[in-house]
Amino acid sequence: MQKLLFYFMAIVFLFSACSESGLDLPDGENPGVNPPASTPKDTLTFNVLTYIDRASVEGHLGANEKSIKTKMDELFRKVSNYWNESSKGKLNHQYRYTVADVVIYDGSSSDPTLRNKIYNEPIDFGKYDVTVLFDCLQDNDETGDGGAAHGGGSDNRSVITVIAGPTTPKDIFTDATYQTLVHELGHYRGVTDMYQYVIDQADNKVSNTQYLPPKCNMWSASDGVWSDYAANIMNYVGGVKQIGNAFPDFFNSLYPENIEINVTVAGEPKRGLTVNFYGSRAGGSGHNRDIWPEIFVSKKTDTNGKCTLNNAKEYFVPNPDHDESMVIPPDLPYGRLFGLLAEVIHDGQKKYIWMPEYEVQMPFFEGKTTYTANVGF
Ligand SMILES: [Zn+2]
Repeated sequence: MQKLLFYFMAIVFLFSACSESGLDLPDGENPGVNPPASTPKDTLTFNVLTYIDRASVEGHLGANEKSIKTKMDELFRKVSNYWNESSKGKLNHQYRYTVADVVIYDGSSSDPTLRNKIYNEPIDFGKYDVTVLFDCLQDNDETGDGGAAHGGGSDNRSVITVIAGPTTPKDIFTDATYQTLVHELGHYRGVTDMYQYVIDQADNKVSNTQYLPPKCNMWSASDGVWSDYAANIMNYVGGVKQIGNAFPDFFNSLYPENIEINVTVAGEPKRGLTVNFYGSRAGGSGHNRDIWPEIFVSKKTDTNGKCTLNNAKEYFVPNPDHDESMVIPPDLPYGRLFGLLAEVIHDGQKKYIWMPEYEVQMPFFEGKTTYTANVGF
């Protein structure tokens, strides 16, 4: 039986995995000893180029041109510690994020010249693997709610932004920014947001149950653990510095060739049973993350009790040329379904299988080409 991840307990969580948590880790020990003199063989090191606004450095962060590097080193040591403590034995490597340079900039973090420099101008990949842009004070006519994000620039570079909101200067060295950075660096390592798979009961009119993914820093930065899926991805990409160079179309390449549902009745394969597939969507204008209540595709089991979707990616990123029976939701944020909910019907009885992307992609990491689920009546 495919593991079904139903959790019926009520929990409270923050919808933005990029938001801060109330968790505090102990302060970094022995400030100033980063980096260590030698690196164990099993440690992956990533060099971080950081930008930070001068007003914050010389204002509420209480630093200057010289001391900012030490403080930044401490921050990224907390990042590395939190990352490694979240492994729980799942990661094949220790990770070390080390500050290669701190650039203090004047003026606005949204200045097009600065942005162009960070995102597009040539970067020395020999020195820098990933860039982080901090703006810890909303000044210089900056607007917006602030927050953190991961994005891409030229040459498959990764750029993370950590931006203060309108009301409070951001104390990145003492608040939960280290957790935020771990989440965003998880994106740098190729992992998607796990909170996109949360479906509230009220947003699932098909089976009327809630769906919750496993705990993961990619769901909520304060979870303090990597999910099996996140760990699989990070172990797979290993020490590759620019994932987009080494693995073109990385996320889409993780889908299996086939989705196969095996249906038995009283232990025997059953032919001719209806299997309806519904799609789950990210939140959009006019709807939350939800199960779109119309049937996306409908199939029947064959003589072996099997129902198969070939080329799974063509269903998750719906391609009506592949299967013209698809009924694609009129509003589909990101142009893809984040999961399928299969409904198997026998004698008026209905059974459901949740198939979020991250579950469907798991066989990839075992070298398998088929995602299989079993349903018995
Ligand atoms: Zn995220």
